Order: sequence, then C-alpha cells, then structure tokens
Amino acid sequence: MARVYNFSAGPSMLPEAVLQKAASEMLDYQGTGQSVMEMSHRTPEYESIIYGAENVFREIMGVPENYNVLFLQGGASLQFAMVPLNLLGDKKKADYINTGVWSKKAIAEGKRYGKVNVVASSEDKNFNYIPAISKEMFDKDAAYVHITSNNTIYGTRYRAIPDTGDVPLVADMSSNILSEYYDVKKFGVIYAGAQKNLGPSGLTVVIVRKDLVGKALDFTPTMLNYATHAEERSMFNTPPCYSIYIAKLVFEWFRDIGGIKAMQELNEKKAAILYEYLDNSKFYKGTVVPEFRSLMNVPFILTNESLDKEFLKQARNAGLINLKGHRSVGGMRASIYNAMPIDGVKKLVEFMKSFEQANK
Ligand SMILES: *Cc1c(COP(=O)(O)O)cnc(C)c1O
Repeated sequence: MARVYNFSAGPSMLPEAVLQKAASEMLDYQGTGQSVMEMSHRTPEYESIIYGAENVFREIMGVPENYNVLFLQGGASLQFAMVPLNLLGDKKKADYINTGVWSKKAIAEGKRYGKVNVVASSEDKNFNYIPAISKEMFDKDAAYVHITSNNTIYGTRYRAIPDTGDVPLVADMSSNILSEYYDVKKFGVIYAGAQKNLGPSGLTVVIVRKDLVGKALDFTPTMLNYATHAEERSMFNTPPCYSIYIAKLVFEWFRDIGGIKAMQELNEKKAAILYEYLDNSKFYKGTVVPEFRSLMNVPFILTNESLDKEFLKQARNAGLINLKGHRSVGGMRASIYNAMPIDGVKKLVEFMKSFEQANK
C-alpha cells in the first residue's frame, strides 16, 4: 500500500527519509551487529546517539549554554506535575493562562502543590482565541507563569510571547516546538512531548534554565527532580533509547533542510494554502479568530454537518487520514506538523474542492 498523508494530532507523520534511514540501520546499526533497540545505553555507541541528539537539538533550537536539555519520559502530561514540583520553591504560587484542555490539565496539577492564579482565559468562546495579556496582570512574586504556546485541539497559537519580567515563563510547546522561531532566552522552561514535531512517543524534551534546577520541593520523587536528570545528562536510568535515536535522525533531517528559518517558511506556506482556501469557501469554515491561527493544527467545519461522515470516509479512501476534529470542537482538524509534506496539504485542498463540487 502507498503511504498515506496522516493528519493526526499526534502521534503524527515522521519524515520518510528518517524512516528509511532507521529501516536501513534496523538490524545492524553502523557495524555494531545489533539494532539500537538492543543496545546497552552504557556504551560509547549509544552515548554518541544521545549526546549527538542533544547537540543537534541545541543547534537547531538555538539553546544557550545556560540551559539544560533533558530527554525524559512520561509525556508532556508528566511535566504538568514536574514543573510545579521543581519550580514552586518557597514562593508556592504560580500564574497560569488558560487556553484550553491542556492548560486546564496543567492548572489542575499545579493546584496539587501550590496556589494557582489563572490570570487570563479564553474559555468564554470555547478557546478560539488567545486572551489579551499585559505584564501588569502577573504577580511579581509568582514562581513562574505557565502558557500553552500552541493549542492542539482548538488550533490557536500565541503571536507574541508574554512579557513576564523577572518571573520565569514556562511553555508547553508540545504541538509547535521547532515549527517557528522562538528565542529560548525568553523562557525559563520549555517542554514538549516528542510525538508531534520531534519523533516517536515515549520521549519528552525539556529545556530548563540551569538556575531553576535544584530547588525541587522536599517530597519530590528522585525521578521527577530535574536535578537528577541534569546531573546525569538524561542517563540516570535507562532512557527511551530508540525514541531518542529516531529524534536524532529527525533533528539531523531538520538541520539538513535548512533549519528553523526554512522550516518556518515552509510551515507558513503550508498553512496559508489551507487557510486561504477555507477563507474563500462557503462550504467549509475555519473556527479560529484569524489573528491567532495555528501553523500546525487547522480545525474547520463543514457548514452542512450531516456530510461529516461522508467527508471522512472519502478522505480516507483518498489516502488522507485522521481528519476528524476533537470532540470539543467538532468537525475536522488537519494537523500539518513539520513532517507533513506540502504535497499532502495540496492534496487535501484538492480533495476538499472536489468534495465541495460534488455536494454543494
Ligand atoms: C499532546 C499534548 C499534550 C499531551 O502530551 P503527552 O505527551 O501525551 O502527555 C500536552 N500538551 C499539548 C499542547 C499537547 O498538544
């Protein structure tokens, strides 16, 4: 069977070149006579994979020296707890912005360990925009401010990073890390589950400013303490070896196609093809306030909802899969992460046009 274009919100597509390289190295990784999955992590071969992955990631993301890059497990969801455990410290309170389901989960977890202040929310309009934010809204004594930079379910993203002054900014970047340029220096912590833009699930990447490490609450389990992993360069215990190996291949692919600038341009182009079509159609409708539209997740509805099932069925037959929207928004959602080729987006728009022609 031919490969499909997978519009899933995650896990999602990986670059074909990466899969091919992994396939070619599956049985014998670079003359070691074994696959990376079988390899001890305490070997020079594996060390060159994990440290190599870190180095390429630092290069493509522009991570300064005074930040640790950690390769952890537990998904972005475990960071909802690790962030407060590691950062609350003596201040015991934090500010959060609520832009949807993932923010809410982070808020709920934060409340288990400290006082959470929700300073802004877009819940009144089912999270189809990013609330206006100004520096004065934040508590100067908060341990940190938490945002979700891209809201996977609703298809919104921040167009400007909030200025939090001296209070560290923490961002859940799971669904848009490495999709557009971010200045890492503006953040205290950035975290992302790998399965959207970085590689396979099972790996979570955390970028944390070094001065924020080592202040975990007393009862923090060893495995949930950033210091544990920072001191051991993500090898305190067995890391998710194979996921890190694939992530390294993704990072190298990313670097070789021109890095963040080239990727951002490509993503803007891909998203524009889809949004332009939606804006000119009466048959389909985008659901997000245009100013806050995501480059990665594009939700839209069919104005005639009764056609939803047929749309999904015919799309699947055309090799365009996982277009069903999240139940809290309804309709469709096309997730067009870094690894989605521009041809996949063009093919989707062609399909949407012909479906519109046949059903209007
Ligand atoms: C997918 C997603 C999560 C959950 O990630 P897991 O790795 O499954 O825990 C959290 N936040 C955002 C923004 C996401 O898109």
